[in-house]
Amino acid sequence: MPASDAADGDILRFADVAFSWRQGDAFRLEIEGFAVQRGESLLIMGPSGSGKSTFLSLACGIVSPERGEIAVAGATISDLRGAALDRFRAEHFGIIFQMFNLLPYGSIVDNVLLPLIFARERRSRASYDGDPAEEARRLLARLGLESALHRRSAPTLSVGQQQRVAVARALIGSPAVVIADEPTSALDRDHQQAFLDLLFEEAERAGATLVMVSHDATMAPRFQRTVELGSLMRQN
Ligand code: ADP
Ligand code: MG
Repeated sequence: MPASDAADGDILRFADVAFSWRQGDAFRLEIEGFAVQRGESLLIMGPSGSGKSTFLSLACGIVSPERGEIAVAGATISDLRGAALDRFRAEHFGIIFQMFNLLPYGSIVDNVLLPLIFARERRSRASYDGDPAEEARRLLARLGLESALHRRSAPTLSVGQQQRVAVARALIGSPAVVIADEPTSALDRDHQQAFLDLLFEEAERAGATLVMVSHDATMAPRFQRTVELGSLMRQN
């Protein structure tokens, strides 16, 4: 079945996907079939080097599969290229990187507004009060960053503050899917729990599907579903 024929409840679907970084590489990701339901919170587990980041890059079209189909919200993202792909990604995905990847230049509000530059629909969803910067400030305030708003740039923030900016940037304009690549790996246990609290709360409020990858099983109980990446791989 083509990935784009997903049942209405599926937001993300892999069908017969194969990917390797280089021809003949020992590492090869092969996923026969896999789906994530709209609104689901899913944790994908696997040891370091097992392909978790590669999986997320495929899901949001940062890389394209050499075979097979990946569908997001009923559209075949693996058929898109170039500017159309960048726009689609910006419209549909909130992305939280392991190191948060905040821009060193630009204000904290500018960092939150970044995904809206290429995403017209997402921008208009974030603009119901007229100005998306208002929505950025509202999200940042909700995440307890009011006092940091006057700071000019992201590098002056603590790690805990940076993580909250990253959550605000992923959630602004309510993208359908929030993907997070080991976002708690740089945090101590207390900060990890606080991070997950605010991520789950804000993702639920936005109605977003949450897909996180991690090698750390301690957060599994918080997710509706946990799968091992290895169990998704085609068995030969
Ligand atoms: P994980 O996130 O589970 O640690 P990755 O997806 O980063 O695993 O890596 C899976 C394999 O792909 C590893 O062998 C890694 O070296 C390789 N790899 C990851 N990213 C790249 C890249 N950008 N270019 C080439 N090889 C890569
Ligand atoms: Mg990784």
